[in-house]
Amino acid sequence: MDQRSAEVSAQQIDADDLGFFRWGRVGGRVLLTNDAGDWAFLSEDELAELFAGKVVEGHARFEEFRGKGFLRDGLDLDAFAARIAQRNRHVRRGAYVHVVTLTHAGREGGQTTAQQGGDMSLETAETIAHFALAGLSPAMSFEFQGAAGEPLSNFAALRHFVETAQTENKRTTGKHLTFSVQTNFTAMTEEVAEWLIANEVLVCTRLDGPARVHDANRQHVGGSTHSDTIRWIEYFHRRYAELQRDPQQWHVEGRLAVTRDTLSAAREVLDEYVQRGMHSIHLHPLDASRFGDEVWAKIGYSPEEYLDFYRDTLETILELNRRGVALAEGMATIVLIKILTADDPGIVDIQSPYGAGTGQIAYDADGALYPCDEARAAGGGTTFALGNVSELAVEDLAAHPTVRAVASASLLDAQPMCADCWNKPYCGFSPVRNFISQGDLFGQRTKCFECKEHMAVSTMLFEKLAEESDADTRAILERWTVTRPAHAIDTRAVKDAF
Ligand code: SF4
Repeated sequence: MDQRSAEVSAQQIDADDLGFFRWGRVGGRVLLTNDAGDWAFLSEDELAELFAGKVVEGHARFEEFRGKGFLRDGLDLDAFAARIAQRNRHVRRGAYVHVVTLTHAGREGGQTTAQQGGDMSLETAETIAHFALAGLSPAMSFEFQGAAGEPLSNFAALRHFVETAQTENKRTTGKHLTFSVQTNFTAMTEEVAEWLIANEVLVCTRLDGPARVHDANRQHVGGSTHSDTIRWIEYFHRRYAELQRDPQQWHVEGRLAVTRDTLSAAREVLDEYVQRGMHSIHLHPLDASRFGDEVWAKIGYSPEEYLDFYRDTLETILELNRRGVALAEGMATIVLIKILTADDPGIVDIQSPYGAGTGQIAYDADGALYPCDEARAAGGGTTFALGNVSELAVEDLAAHPTVRAVASASLLDAQPMCADCWNKPYCGFSPVRNFISQGDLFGQRTKCFECKEHMAVSTMLFEKLAEESDADTRAILERWTVTRPAHAIDTRAVKDAF
């Protein structure tokens, strides 16, 4: 047998002079990132110089690397710690996303169909409003939904909730409150619409594209026909314009159910969003565990198929932006805020630790508390139930064993693969989803769709940022970070937030 040999020289590493960072290869270059979210692209030669301790005073990149904390020489530890604190202040902020399920009643063919769980009572709505406002966060977002899709079939509870919260907030807490309703318009009337507008409740709905795609999806995910959805979107946009409200903030937000039909209709879907005056589109894969095998075989796809679709659609959205169309992609925007600004955008699903029970609380129609809405939807009972709003105080939740287990299972610094991954500062995963899909809270990253998705999205964005000659694309990506979710507003100085 032939014997072959190869000479291997050990990489010279001057560990004592290096800051703590992770690295990988993206867009043909070396990417360094650290826990403060700082990043830099290097050539292979520069990486070797950095490792060998040759990036010293006088080197072209010394000042940059020192400022970003990649070098120990001259590191401003206080400034570095402040940047890490700013980026992670969600861990001490208190719950700021409150997802309130008002009803389990669905509507089919114009008729209400009662399901197990029923409607939220006015008394429970009031108790939840008081419970939530007792929390620490200076800004809160209340999201109303129905388990079967239409919270407005219990409009009385929504109205009582909003009025209670607004009155209590004026009288005592003085927080920045945002309200939104995830409606499929099946119970919308002009009277309800005018109340929502007058009381500044934002409207979100499902819009899956043109009639052909939207109406096909309704067979599997329920909701209004395309024509009804469009009629109400146009109604709200007309009224916002008459009231001269800023369209950046006041527009119906569309959420897209990406099914197999969507994969081959990306351009039609985008054209529909632009035509309807939408300002953003949030691409998000369906969760296979929510569908039976037979339905998933019709509407589902593999992670690879989804990510090919995402890449192509992101390119098309960027092309539309270059032609002057203002349309941002939601997932990219979340990640870009993490990459291009000093802040975290406050999306609990992409945080370390995952924000269930600390950043988000979900309330079922009977007042049952869950750490997040996914846990409520998955629970079907007790797995993630924390108790009832009438029995607990909001400050009890962070110490609840379930919340602590979820947090420790999602702290990326302690997870195999994540601890060494260059994408760690911009990432996060849901232990609840791991539990549903893999049977335990920790799960394995190689079997985790979120891991593949987050790595792919970050890689695509860094590939764009690596192209220094493409200033247009960089300007578009920076523009997307300017409009942030209202619940990301936290005006406290970092020292007060900790
Ligand atoms: S979930 Fe995946 S992409 Fe995210 S930090 Fe962990 S290994 Fe990296």
